[in-house]
Amino acid sequence: MQLSLLLEGAPMKRCTKCGEWKPATPDHWYVDNRRKSGFLPCCKVCQRAYDAAWRAANPEKQRAYNAAWYAANPEKKRAQTQRRRALKNMLPTLWDGDMEQAMLDWWGHTCAYCGKPIEGDMHLDHYIPLARKSLCPGTVRWNLLPACGPCNLSKRAAMPERWIRRTFGAGAEAILARIHAYFESVQPTKVEKRRAQRAPVQKALIE
Ligand SMILES: [Zn+2]
Ligand SMILES: [Zn+2]
Repeated sequence: MQLSLLLEGAPMKRCTKCGEWKPATPDHWYVDNRRKSGFLPCCKVCQRAYDAAWRAANPEKQRAYNAAWYAANPEKKRAQTQRRRALKNMLPTLWDGDMEQAMLDWWGHTCAYCGKPIEGDMHLDHYIPLARKSLCPGTVRWNLLPACGPCNLSKRAAMPERWIRRTFGAGAEAILARIHAYFESVQPTKVEKRRAQRAPVQKALIE
């Protein structure tokens, strides 16, 4: 180890979490100027894992943090809203209050993912996220699910099956089967299919 340290030239730093030695450069460590070493005590890989776990365990705090960040960066918030609107406009939208009611009835007002009753604000979740525009059918009955806030916010732009398997482990297959059964029951009619195809799916204006 010592020899390799000398050969690499850069000083090495040991991660307090995983114990690995890595070059003390911003490639491997997050900068923290309040510390003597100039970096956080655990490596980027460990810090990212820690942050992800924290976000999953504290969805409300994460939401408050996001809200505060966007309040401090209004132009970023606007850009995000515009990006979202543009995506929505490019993809088909066939959705109304009756469809929403029928969807909620089918699911018994529970989250399609975790199964918990949805209290307060229901999040209308795009199963294939809008951000995956080449794959996303749009804001349509056969791509929308009722979700609780924590599930919707955790899923974000992830591809659904992967996210479900990662989040629910052994319970994932049952969740997927239920979702597939639901989508099976709300397939588009011929007319809807035609209308959806006419929507202006264009090459991305953004990115
Ligand atoms: Zn580490
Ligand atoms: Zn949920």
